[in-house]
Amino acid sequence: MITMYGVIGDPIAHSLSPAMHNAAFKALGMDCYYAAFHVKGRYLHEAVNGARALGFGGLNVTVPHKEAVIRFVEADAAAREIGAANTIDFRTNKAYNTDAPGAIASLEDSGVKVKGRSVLVLGAGGAARAVTYGLLKAGATVTIANRTAQKAADLAAYMREYGEVFGTGMDNLREKVSISDIIVNTTTVGMGQDETLVTADMLSDRQTVLDLVYRPVETRLLREARLAGARAIDGITMLVRQGALSFEIWTGVKPPIDVMERGARDAL
Ligand code: NAP
Repeated sequence: MITMYGVIGDPIAHSLSPAMHNAAFKALGMDCYYAAFHVKGRYLHEAVNGARALGFGGLNVTVPHKEAVIRFVEADAAAREIGAANTIDFRTNKAYNTDAPGAIASLEDSGVKVKGRSVLVLGAGGAARAVTYGLLKAGATVTIANRTAQKAADLAAYMREYGEVFGTGMDNLREKVSISDIIVNTTTVGMGQDETLVTADMLSDRQTVLDLVYRPVETRLLREARLAGARAIDGITMLVRQGALSFEIWTGVKPPIDVMERGARDAL
């Protein structure tokens, strides 16, 4: 019998997750299918219980439900500490956050060491929480710079338990960029528009830029990074890695990353 998996979010129509997970299930000859479900906040609890009752193997949870879902599923320590989960495994009824290790894997698989590095995280929203946590746990020093400086300060205060982290506004961004080894964009700037907070003249060839935005894949920020000779890592690289970690939690099988990546890129 086929085992169902899925992603719940609002909105969800343009999710790349079905394409990447189904590509992996097919390549491995597994009798499984993954679909996207549009779930409004008021039905979140019922949707999770319904999927469990229908015998789903697991669910991904995306914006805006990642925080709310941990109120009624048993989250592991990392998801509790981050305050958000994106993966529910119905075999164990546990929830996890694979965004944090997915971000670290996207850097390390690209040959970028994180431990001991100085990282500038642009943004202080949901994605920044997971990325900052992952970076601190991996031994990086993090500066969170956000348009609303108070949100960066609050997030840094919360994350201080896990490592060396500072929160600031976007002022003197050139200087903040210049003293960082790695710059991670977790803002929505560049999503659907040709805009960037950091330009080539602020970067150098010893730096790495990871942009979480993946629509378009080739953002203005990544173009500017390449122009400066910096290493540029796109949002699909991270999306695929957080997805591969979910896949492994559900099935116990390490999926072929290249197959998932092709599935996601072809669906764009
Ligand atoms: P969010 O919680 O809404 O946070 C948005 C952040 O962007 C806030 O820090 C906000 O600053 C900042 N921002 C928005 N407009 C800005 C502007 N014009 N100038 C400067 N800063 C601005 O969003 P999220 O859930 O963290 O997601 C952020 C992005 O990451 C999205 O594009 C999402 O698709 C992407 N993402 C990718 C992956 C992946 O696997 N590749 C995973 C997760 C998320 P204020 O606080 O000042 O409003």
